Amino acid sequence: MLDQTNELTAYDRDHFMHPSTHAGTHARGESPVRVIAGGKGCTIVDRDGRESLDAFAGLYCVNVGYGRTEIADAIAAQAHKLAYYHSYAGHGSEPSIRLAKMIIDRAPANMSRVYFGLSGSDANETNIKLIWYYNNVVGRPEKKKIISRWRGYHGSGVMTGSLTGLKLFHNAFDLPRAPVLHTEAPCFYRRADRSQTEEQFSTFCAEKLEAMILAEGPETVAAFIGEPILGTGGIVPPPAGYWEKIQAVLTKYDVMLVADEVVTGFGRLGTMFGSDHYGMQPDLITIAKGLTSAYLPLSGTIVSNKVWDVIVQGADEMGAMGHGWTYSAHPLCAAAGVANLELIDSLGLVENAGTVGAHFRAGLADAMAGLKHVGEVRGDGLIAAVEFVADRDDRVFFDPAQKVGPQIAAALLERGVIARAMPEGDILGFAPPLCLTREEADTIVAKTRDAVVAVSKTLAG
Ligand code: PMP
Repeated sequence: MLDQTNELTAYDRDHFMHPSTHAGTHARGESPVRVIAGGKGCTIVDRDGRESLDAFAGLYCVNVGYGRTEIADAIAAQAHKLAYYHSYAGHGSEPSIRLAKMIIDRAPANMSRVYFGLSGSDANETNIKLIWYYNNVVGRPEKKKIISRWRGYHGSGVMTGSLTGLKLFHNAFDLPRAPVLHTEAPCFYRRADRSQTEEQFSTFCAEKLEAMILAEGPETVAAFIGEPILGTGGIVPPPAGYWEKIQAVLTKYDVMLVADEVVTGFGRLGTMFGSDHYGMQPDLITIAKGLTSAYLPLSGTIVSNKVWDVIVQGADEMGAMGHGWTYSAHPLCAAAGVANLELIDSLGLVENAGTVGAHFRAGLADAMAGLKHVGEVRGDGLIAAVEFVADRDDRVFFDPAQKVGPQIAAALLERGVIARAMPEGDILGFAPPLCLTREEADTIVAKTRDAVVAVSKTLAG
């Protein structure tokens, strides 16, 4: 008879279609199934009792760390009172109303309302629809194109997969769909002209954006979407002056800015929002992950006063907007959100992300200094990456077929630490829970060095 873990593994291979997983190797049993059973703080444990220090907070979402009974209790208490009622036609529940207020209290200036969804992807779908709606109401029906960036990540739906600027998410799906366009990725390390300074590269990115807007016709370009710090595309902080220069172009051509803060919202950069951290002035903000620390799925679109006024005008002219999810503002998810934001405040996790983040990044930079295959160490707040190259001096990238990033992530996992091999380039990403301690940061750094040195030895060159 199969023991319980083996039985689960068999069921998994036969019945569970996983996201971002090689279907063939998985079904044939050629790649591992790992059943995660528990977690506390920054550590998770699987059914075989193997512990891992999770230096990626799940998918950069478990911001308060694992095992927070305060959130579990808040969800249970709400479930005993009222598990569900919809939020259509002015209905609500106490936690969803309280959470909306808490979000606006913490949001950047000039923000008015929150529209709740379930995932970062659906929140960005809402953004696209609000942008189109806005331009219809103000009488500019031709102003509909949305510019995203290569290497941006904004979701996996049909339209949000189009916004995402990673080939993996386009290939074999006939994406991107019109009217989505992609402009230069803000990756200073990967710039084509290596004589450019950071400021010059930022100017170059802004000029490329302006050239695209002019080529398309400013009267057709509605919005620009970007993550304050590029996330899944490689964890890349904006080069010096970047957002200021981009913002100036957007203002010049009356193009809205969507700040996708799914990763950066609620403390990741040592500030409540990345928009404030980098001086962005968004019209719409996408939130998800850190809003509930993933204890339950919840996302939101934060709508600025400017957009809200036009939504009210549209309703007065056309009636209620035809856009809603069954689970918008789900009471259980909202209860998790309220308890999560209270914990972030009471534990001082935004400040901790700033101070322990700085300690972690300094340690990582020191530990990687001089290693043969390390091209760049970068990050901000409590998010960081190491990019690996075949030749450091000439910045020669590895052949992707060598899978150097995944090899290093696997070597690190063997040493008890989870980091993420980012999907494009040989980049190891770190975004631990915001409750990370200095000791845990030092462990991640030391084990990363061990793993990099071990894999480096096996590489030619
Ligand atoms: N935007 C950003 C910046 C993200 O990182 C992600 C997910 N990693 C999304 C949107 C999509 O969120 P979800 O997977 O919840 O749909």
